[in-house]
Amino acid sequence: MSKTPTVGFISLGCPKALVDSEKILTQLRSEGYEVSPSYQEADLVVVNTCGFIDAAVEESLDSIGEAITENGKVIVTGCLGAREAEIRARHPQVLKVTGAHALKEVMAAVHEHLPAPHDPFMDLLPPQGIKLTPKHYAYLKISEGCNHRCTFCIIPSLRGDLESRLLSDVLLEAERLANAGAKELLVVAQDTSAYGLDLNYQTDFWKGKGRKTRFYELADALGELGIWIRMHYVYPYPHVDAVIPLMAQGKILPYLDIPFQHANSRILKLMKRPAASENVLQRIKAWREICPDITLRSTFIVGFPGETEQEFTELLDFLSAAQLDRVGCFPYSPVKGAVANELANPVPEEVKQQRLERFMAHQAEISADRLQQRIGRIETVLIDEVVAEGAIARSKADAPEIDGQVFIDGATHLKAGEFVQVKLEEADEHDMWGHLF
Ligand code: SF4
Repeated sequence: MSKTPTVGFISLGCPKALVDSEKILTQLRSEGYEVSPSYQEADLVVVNTCGFIDAAVEESLDSIGEAITENGKVIVTGCLGAREAEIRARHPQVLKVTGAHALKEVMAAVHEHLPAPHDPFMDLLPPQGIKLTPKHYAYLKISEGCNHRCTFCIIPSLRGDLESRLLSDVLLEAERLANAGAKELLVVAQDTSAYGLDLNYQTDFWKGKGRKTRFYELADALGELGIWIRMHYVYPYPHVDAVIPLMAQGKILPYLDIPFQHANSRILKLMKRPAASENVLQRIKAWREICPDITLRSTFIVGFPGETEQEFTELLDFLSAAQLDRVGCFPYSPVKGAVANELANPVPEEVKQQRLERFMAHQAEISADRLQQRIGRIETVLIDEVVAEGAIARSKADAPEIDGQVFIDGATHLKAGEFVQVKLEEADEHDMWGHLF
C-alpha cells in the first residue's frame, strides 16, 4: 500500500494564528492527509508564521530555514506572509507564500505539491467535480460578486462585492477540467475583466512561476493549456486591449462577449455602466486591426427609463457602425429592488416591444452579413453532438447555447468533443452549414 501523503506543521504566533493553524489542520485531516511532528516523515511542511515584532520575524525566518534544511518542501502562511519579498530573499526555495487566514490558498498549494490521498468514497467524485455541461466543455468561474452598481441590476446586493479566486486555484481547476477531457473552457464572472482587483492583483505561483492574479495573466496562463479558452462578460476597459494580441496569436479564442447594454452616453450614465465613457467604436476598430478574425458578442437593453426615440436611433446607428457579430437584446424590465425603477419617464410597454423588434430586425441583417463573409472559408469546429442527419458543431465564433451552430450533414461518424476542419458553404443570420474538409 502506498504511504499516506503526510504534512508537517509548525505553528508560531498568537491565538489568532493558532486558530488559522487549526483550520488548516482540520482541512488536511478531513481530506485524508496525515499530519506528522517529524520533518523526516512529512512529504512537505507548512509553516504558519508570525510577524508581530522583530524577534518573531527572526524566529519565523529561522523556522522556515530549518524546515527547508530538514525537509526541503515548504509552504509559508501567516502574518509574515504579507512580507513575501523578505521571505523569498532569505529562502528563495519556498514553494508558496500566503498571508494570514488563507485556508484556501494553503490548501491549493498543498494540492499542487502533494496531491490528496486516494479515498474510495471521495473518489467517487471526479477530480474536476460534478459538471452539468457535456464532457467536452465547461464553465470556469473566476470570481463572485461585483463592484459595480448598474442601476438595473441587483446582483451586487445579492452576491456582494467582487471576490476573486486566486490564480493558482483557478488554474488548478482549469487543468483538471482539461485532463478530464474538456476541449473548451468558458471563462465567466460578473465582470471578468475586473478579475483580481479585490486582491490588488497579488502575485501567485503556478508551476513554479510567479504571476499576477489579473485578467491578462489569467488569459495567458489558460492559453498554455492548449484548448479553446472563451472569454465572457468582459467590459471595454483599456486594460482589456492587452488580451487581443493573445487572440491574434491563437492562445485564446478570438472571441469577446462584451455586454455594452447601450450606446448613448446619457443612458449609459443613467445605467451607471462600467467603462461608460470609453470610446467603444474606436476600441473595436483597434481590436479588429490587431485581430481581424475577432468575434464580438454583446447584449443590449432597449426601453430603459427615459430612453428617447433619438437615443434609441443612436443605438441602431451604433449597431451599423460597430458591425457586431452576435447580439442579444432585452426590453428593460424593472427588477424588484433595482435603482433604475425610480428613474423618470418609464417607457411604455408597447414602445419597448416595438424598439425590441426594430433592434432585432436591424441587427439580423448585420449578423447575416457577417456570416456571409465567412462562406468559402475553411475553419476548425468542435463537434457538440451527432444526430441521425449528421454532426452539430460550433466554430470559434460560437459559444454554446447563446450563439449559432455549424451543421455538417452526413458526418455521423464523428464524435462529440472532436475538432474537425470544415468548409463553410451556407449561412442564415444565425447558423452555418458546411462539409468536412
Ligand atoms: S450588470 Fe453591472 S452591477 Fe450587475 S453584475 Fe453586471 S457589472 Fe455588476
